[in-house]
Amino acid sequence: MTVLINYPKNFLRYDLIRDVTKHVKRGHRWIFSDCFASTEKFQDGPALVTFKKQQLAFVVVQKDTHLRARIIVLLNEKDSVDFQLKKYFQSQWLKTLELRAQFPNELTNSFRFINGEGDGFPGLIIDIYNDTAVIKHDHPVMEEIWNHEKLVEWLKRDLPYLKCIYLKRKNDEEEKGANLYGELSPEVSFKENGVQFTSNIRDAAKTGFFLDQRDNRKMISHFSKGKKVLNLFSYTGGFSVYAAIGGASEVTSVDIAAAAVAASQKNFDINGLKNTHHAIHADAFEFLETAQKEKKTWDIVITDPPSFAPNQKALPKAIEGYTRVYASSIKLVPNGGLFVASSCSSHISQEQFLEILQNSFSTARRKGTVVSIGGQPSDHPFPLVMSELRYLKFAIFRLDD
Ligand code: SAH
Repeated sequence: MTVLINYPKNFLRYDLIRDVTKHVKRGHRWIFSDCFASTEKFQDGPALVTFKKQQLAFVVVQKDTHLRARIIVLLNEKDSVDFQLKKYFQSQWLKTLELRAQFPNELTNSFRFINGEGDGFPGLIIDIYNDTAVIKHDHPVMEEIWNHEKLVEWLKRDLPYLKCIYLKRKNDEEEKGANLYGELSPEVSFKENGVQFTSNIRDAAKTGFFLDQRDNRKMISHFSKGKKVLNLFSYTGGFSVYAAIGGASEVTSVDIAAAAVAASQKNFDINGLKNTHHAIHADAFEFLETAQKEKKTWDIVITDPPSFAPNQKALPKAIEGYTRVYASSIKLVPNGGLFVASSCSSHISQEQFLEILQNSFSTARRKGTVVSIGGQPSDHPFPLVMSELRYLKFAIFRLDD
């Protein structure tokens, strides 16, 4: 079968105890554990979900998570499951290609080709870095389900410039990844908006780079001319390089990961940038404290911390953490300067993000004007009814007297 997913001949079936028909027909792709009978014995993997014994969807079950089933496709009773799956994947793959028609281009050859649920391929991420594709799964169950052989075949057919297709696992897993096609080079170079970057994909965070900040990074370059810029939680210097390209007089990058700090300098060098760059390996919270004590200031401060809210339960603490780190950052910006805040936590909504920032400004006893609000770019789509997948928040504020 030319389908992208592995599934058995005989399906396990689970009958729902709650009617989620409306919810899933509107495009939601997750069915939570409380929609199934508590006596149900789950097995990881593909299954059919029914409601009142009527066939509803082909799903992948994750037996240990509250997100109990990811919907791959809604089913009708008329056609065979094989036929419906085949048709679904072919049309969904074409839609995915069409949405990325602009990529690769002369300026940008790094982009997200498949964004999981947002592209109709639940739990599956595929990022392209020049001639290298990186596949990553949201959950170990999903790694078993997606048919890597077929994915490689379709990727090679439709993105013929690929020389390597790499499966990346979490950095703390014993086997970090595997070459599915070709061989991963230790350093992969790629372009974004005409800016050069390099990534050690095997050891890097996520799939290798934070592609989702592409449009926001570009925004930074527009405001940086002649400015002194501080980039906190800088990772490999994405925002820093754009600030330098925009003409910053001086850029400081701060990150706790030594390899990321070294890579940020490398990314300056490969772009031939001569702006002063202080690449500092430090704890950003300590850096903030010291800078405040020493009354240091920067014209632009960018604060894009890692997610403080791994789950809903951690949210109150996370909100406190974000408020504190943003407030401390705001204190380093004089009036007329810019403060740039970002958060990638999916548990914080766009509204909550701005509320956190109102509180951060108030904690810092300062006034802000919103200059620009950003988010995730068009290669990171999400279903309209799954606002939890609109995870990236980004805003630029001017400090006012
Ligand atoms: N802004 C970056 C992405 C930031 S990801 C970009 O656009 O590419 C979050 C970063 O925070 C990671 O690089 C991680 O190493 C760093 N980090 C985590 N805890 C930190 C801490 N206490 N101090 C400084 N950096 C930290």
